[in-house]
Amino acid sequence: MKITAIETHVCHARMRNWVFVKVITDQPGLYGWGEATLEWHTRGVVGSIEDLATLLVGEDPTCVEHLWQMMWRQHFWHGNGITRSTAISGIDLALWDIVGKIHGVPCHKLWGGPVRDSIRLYCHLGGGNLESFYETPVDNAKQFADFARQAVTDGFTGFKSMAVPPTMQIEGLKPIKAADACVAAMREAVGDEIDIMVDCHARPSPAMGMQFAKALDPYGLYFFEEPCWPENIAGLAAINAAVATPVATGERLTHLAAFRDLFSVRGCDICQLDLTHCGGFTEARRIAALADAYRIALAPHNPQGPVSTAASLEFGFSQPSYIICESVDNDVPWRNDVVDEGFVVNPTNRTVTPNERPGLGIEINEEEVNKHPFEQELPQRVFYQDGSVGDW
Ligand SMILES: [Mg+2]
Repeated sequence: MKITAIETHVCHARMRNWVFVKVITDQPGLYGWGEATLEWHTRGVVGSIEDLATLLVGEDPTCVEHLWQMMWRQHFWHGNGITRSTAISGIDLALWDIVGKIHGVPCHKLWGGPVRDSIRLYCHLGGGNLESFYETPVDNAKQFADFARQAVTDGFTGFKSMAVPPTMQIEGLKPIKAADACVAAMREAVGDEIDIMVDCHARPSPAMGMQFAKALDPYGLYFFEEPCWPENIAGLAAINAAVATPVATGERLTHLAAFRDLFSVRGCDICQLDLTHCGGFTEARRIAALADAYRIALAPHNPQGPVSTAASLEFGFSQPSYIICESVDNDVPWRNDVVDEGFVVNPTNRTVTPNERPGLGIEINEEEVNKHPFEQELPQRVFYQDGSVGDW
């Protein structure tokens, strides 16, 4: 069996261009789907996949680890940059989809699953609508509370908010009080039985992240995400050690050694590896094994398209340390037109039961994808009050 072509199918989904990867074989009707979505770098990823295809066309698609090693190590440059690691991930997911189809089992069964009956989903405030999640101002605590109530009405038992504003490296009490008011309003709105998550988007410096973490610690957040830059591993570790709330991070890390450096100083208690960036299933399984050694939980980053979601769930049904999966369902109204999914979501509590179809259990409707060709992503740029550059 041989790989005959690797295609990319770009689908503009407003905030993101979903990059679907299709690995085609010489067996009639046998192909696999992956996803390599990387916001604001769509052309780069598509080009990188084209470059990697020169290594893989003609090779046996079932030798996934061997092909992964080729993608990571061959032609001198390693695959640790975000563009190439995303391209590798998209291809790797598609290869595992093919292997599942060959054996007639879902991917999680290839790895000894299922290890659980269901997976719990959490949502973004606003369900993935860009403005609701990213642009609700932190001086509007009531709006945070209203969105929180809506998430619970929609069946979610956990949701994520952006209640920490962009701040300069050092600022005074005002942003801390604003974040505190938003989280207080959400907790008041939904009670203690619903899990609230706060994503800092790595906006704060380690010093500001520490202040936000301590201020929000009394609210019992399920996790506190990216409280400072992923490059500030010592800062992450200091914050994680200083508060009871678990720090979550890892969505921007691209390979095992980066996770080793994070875990070894206990920079988090929840690892948010992204199946579409961290090297696909092949590297994710190594990262998960390493996380297990530290008793660090897994909660994948997954705000992208439907292949990413299917992959995140297949992974979850094979991993004992997996606790919850990020989900969006309100990013574009036609999301469900482009995909036919094998898993089932219970709308009353937003849990997912395992897919029973082979591989990732999905089919992408290329005709629907073609209705949404590439468009430049909406700019999301942050400047502080003095005009200097901030983090989105
Ligand atoms: Mg995040």
